[in-house]
Amino acid sequence: MRRAVIIGAGMAGLLAARAAAASGAVDEVVIIEPDDLADDTPARTGLPQARHTHILMAGGAEAADELLPGIIRRWLDAGAHRQELTSHMVALSPEGWYRRWKPTGHYLITASRPLLDRVVREQVLTDSRIRLLTGRKVTALLGSSHHVTGVVHSAARARGDEPHHLHAALVVDASGRASRATTWLADLGVTGIAQRQLDTGLTYASRTFRAPAGARHVPVFNVMADPLAGNGRSAVVTPIENGQWIASLCGIKGSEPTRDPADFVPFALGLRHPLIGQLLQDLEPLSDVTVSRNTGNRRRYFEKVSNWPERFVALGDAIATFTPVYGQGLSVAALGALALHRELHRHGSTAAGVARRVQRAAAVSVDAAWILATAQDIHYTAAHGQKPTRQERLQSAFTSRLSRVATGSAFMADALTDVTSMRRPATRLLSPAVLYAAAAGPLLKPLQGPQLTPAERRLLGPRNAATPAASS
Ligand SMILES: Cc1cc2nc3c(=O)[nH]c(=O)nc-3n(C[C@H](O)[C@H](O)[C@H](O)COP(=O)(O)OP(=O)(O)OC[C@H]3O[C@@H](n4cnc5c(N)ncnc54)[C@H](O)[C@@H]3O)c2cc1C
Repeated sequence: MRRAVIIGAGMAGLLAARAAAASGAVDEVVIIEPDDLADDTPARTGLPQARHTHILMAGGAEAADELLPGIIRRWLDAGAHRQELTSHMVALSPEGWYRRWKPTGHYLITASRPLLDRVVREQVLTDSRIRLLTGRKVTALLGSSHHVTGVVHSAARARGDEPHHLHAALVVDASGRASRATTWLADLGVTGIAQRQLDTGLTYASRTFRAPAGARHVPVFNVMADPLAGNGRSAVVTPIENGQWIASLCGIKGSEPTRDPADFVPFALGLRHPLIGQLLQDLEPLSDVTVSRNTGNRRRYFEKVSNWPERFVALGDAIATFTPVYGQGLSVAALGALALHRELHRHGSTAAGVARRVQRAAAVSVDAAWILATAQDIHYTAAHGQKPTRQERLQSAFTSRLSRVATGSAFMADALTDVTSMRRPATRLLSPAVLYAAAAGPLLKPLQGPQLTPAERRLLGPRNAATPAASS
């Protein structure tokens, strides 16, 4: 029996399970997960971020749909929203307000994180080859520095439990931000894994609200920070299922939002533009304020390890975590699982070098996300003593230029969305047409305020009466 063991039942783990089973390279897949997933509350211990805004980019949604055909339709049927880009997004970037250009086929999906995971989990577990073992956590890998041959797992919460060994032809670490892969590998003799960390000390504070009557499906509203001006505060509001909106406030170290409900709307009103505070000020909150602080960028360069062991792969946040405000982690997880499927389908689970191939293929979307996530963060992290590399500084200046041009060029907005939605590789931005447009600059003057429809303007509280706005 060729078995794959997947560590963790988050998005990367669920999609990796499907990828392994559907590739035909294994006969059985066992997912090991500490949490009891029958209990579908947003508060599950292993997924503290589930109470915060989760935007799924088109590239990630389509990778998931390739692995689980029809999953996008199922998300939407369960209450998720499809938001056309850039027409259904109102965003103030550091370079100014983005225009709402005509739809070009780009989109993103908004829903609560528990909904996104539940729909995928239900679908993945219809496959009789995939088994979910809950209440257990992986504590070590079995094997040697050449081959991983299984995992050691024990009770997640109970003490005094005898550890069990589970042998496997393939082990996938999808245990997220808390992944102990580098320690587990070091125990087998695989050391020297390079790592880069850029942490701005960003704090997230999120809360759900009842959507106003007739406003269940609104655009994504986003007021971003402006690192060069020293403003590290931002916020986003998105519609989710069940007639609710979720709002997340973010602030770097020294500018953090608090968990005090009385601070929530005032924080949003005090951003670079009061739009989000104005949207929220008269709404009925449906939850407490949840705060998370573990949000830094952290990249492990597994694909560069010269003696990478056979039959072991890491995916999703286990490879890299990104500042969440750019909404890329889920898509990187899905694209990584798709890379796993392609390599297993082509080479099988036991061919020499296949684990390394997967790691290299998964690194492509990780790199793209890293460039975008760190482009702004380097300005803060420099202030916090972490020196940006020369390459990071160049990438940051280039992305900032493209973003400025995108405020006044439909072509550039589309090219940038190709990459930020993770549908096209970052090299798309190096095409001659993009470089020419970047040199030419924006074709239209900057907007002086958000482009809002009359219906959207009515959602703002009375304090917005004087807000300048361009027509949409
Ligand atoms: C505040 C915040 C907001 C975010 N917003 C967005 C967003 O808008 N869009 C987006 O794309 N991404 C967002 N992200 C990132 C996103 O949450 C992650 O990228 C995504 O969850 C990664 O999926 P994963 O499966 O790799 O890890 P996770 O989803 O974290 O899943 C890991 C799983 O592994 C389990 N596990 C842990 N340890 C063990 C063990 N020893 N043995 C077995 N199982 C284990 C956990 O219980 C969990 O179920 C956000 C992150 C944060 C922190």
